[in-house]
Amino acid sequence: MIVDEKYINEIVANVVSSMKEVERAPKQKGVFDTMTEALEAVSKAYKQFRGYSVAQREKMISRIRELTLEEAENLAVLGVEETGMGRVADKIIKHQLVANKTPGTEDLKPSVMTGDDGLTLIEPAPFGVIGSITPSTNPSETVICNSMGMIAGGNAVVFNPHPNACKTANYAVDLVNRAILEAGGPENLVVSVKKPTRESSNEMMASPIVRMLVATGGPGVVKALLSSGKKAIGAGAGNPPVIVDDTADIEKAGADIVAGASFDNNLPCIAEKECFVFRNVADELIASMQKNGAYLIKGAEIDKLVKLCLIEKNGKYSINKDWVGKDASLFLKAIGIDADPRLIICEVPNEHPFVQVEMMMPVLGIVRVKDIDEAIELAVAAEHGNRHSAHIHSKNIDNLTNFAKAVETTIFVKNAPSYAGIGAGGEGYTTFTIAGPTGEGLTAAHSFCRQRRCVMVDNLHIV
Ligand code: NAD
Repeated sequence: MIVDEKYINEIVANVVSSMKEVERAPKQKGVFDTMTEALEAVSKAYKQFRGYSVAQREKMISRIRELTLEEAENLAVLGVEETGMGRVADKIIKHQLVANKTPGTEDLKPSVMTGDDGLTLIEPAPFGVIGSITPSTNPSETVICNSMGMIAGGNAVVFNPHPNACKTANYAVDLVNRAILEAGGPENLVVSVKKPTRESSNEMMASPIVRMLVATGGPGVVKALLSSGKKAIGAGAGNPPVIVDDTADIEKAGADIVAGASFDNNLPCIAEKECFVFRNVADELIASMQKNGAYLIKGAEIDKLVKLCLIEKNGKYSINKDWVGKDASLFLKAIGIDADPRLIICEVPNEHPFVQVEMMMPVLGIVRVKDIDEAIELAVAAEHGNRHSAHIHSKNIDNLTNFAKAVETTIFVKNAPSYAGIGAGGEGYTTFTIAGPTGEGLTAAHSFCRQRRCVMVDNLHIV
């Protein structure tokens, strides 16, 4: 072999080219610099994935469950560190819930019709590549939960996560890909972009590669999604009321409401965000809440808290995002109180922003009402027609039924903390994408599938 200048130049060129390859390759599995690259990769992965069996999908999902449990603490710490919102211990529970109670392929239920004319089979089939937009409030939980349901349905996923939570979301994308690869699945079945923007989101929504869109977030993103012209699942905002009547176990109601409303500092969209209580049991309820981790503020303290965490413009209030998901102790410190409760409670009139605004802070406005008619009327109005979640503590069957009928929410929890509605201490599976506006309800694998009909005439029916 002649080692001349040409030979050396060739070696140098090869090394430079492979270094560039390494630079281009995502440092985290499935996380790309641009949406164009992410779309290209996921499209290739989906084509490969079409050849995999349902049993192989299930194997990948099982490995995602295991890795999520192993890394629940890492994910929780990362989420709190990056977003400055929520509580590590509660986020660990959220990840465990995702790992243990998100349905897999068992959620896919084919149906058949048979008769004199033969056999017709209806099978849930993949949409293809799904584009998913995820929130800052449950960044890794939503990525993992969506991935499991979408993969169970035979799909691939491209995420455009919330820019303020993209490190955590992309850590979850990497985790899901690691699990898929370890279980023998294809590379880049789940992808994302390193720095998501409105432009990358628009590119994803417009791409012909993406056959279905899913958005979990506030009203802005749901509206954008529904204007896309594609099949879309929109999981939007809520402002869940909780009613307590005078037949309830008041001691338990107080404990349950504090547990639900303070969980992850009130970030969950299903969490109790305002309380309507019968006058004759209000003092007892407040006492029970105080016993169970709530701190009661009054008068000028309430006004100070409003100024701190809400922004007023022409009589309308919006949230000061700096305070979303912060610990109750920080709010109290800022208004001159030294205490470390799980939740701040205060009695306010019905029109108060602590009742009417979806704050996602550990602050609960309490309104006294005279009877169930007033409670239902005010609670339905405070829910603002989101039809998301509502809760009640009562032993009166008429009250339980009438509120459920009037409020028409996707989730309705009776006599338990709100999180029972997503399978934590309540029956049923979990999801972090609750689709009220588009009606799928608690999404799972079946929500991410198309129904396909296959007809065999005259044969294959056996009676
Ligand atoms: P957000 O609406 O600010 O952001 C959600 C996602 O949408 C982010 O990825 C964001 O970048 C993107 N986005 C926002 N406006 C957009 C637009 N016009 N076009 C394209 N993308 C857009 O919400 P957040 O603060 O991250 O999360 C909290 C909100 O989400 C609350 O309102 C809460 O109730 C809701 N939420 C709902 C569910 C549910 O399952 N229904 C679950 C979690 C959170």
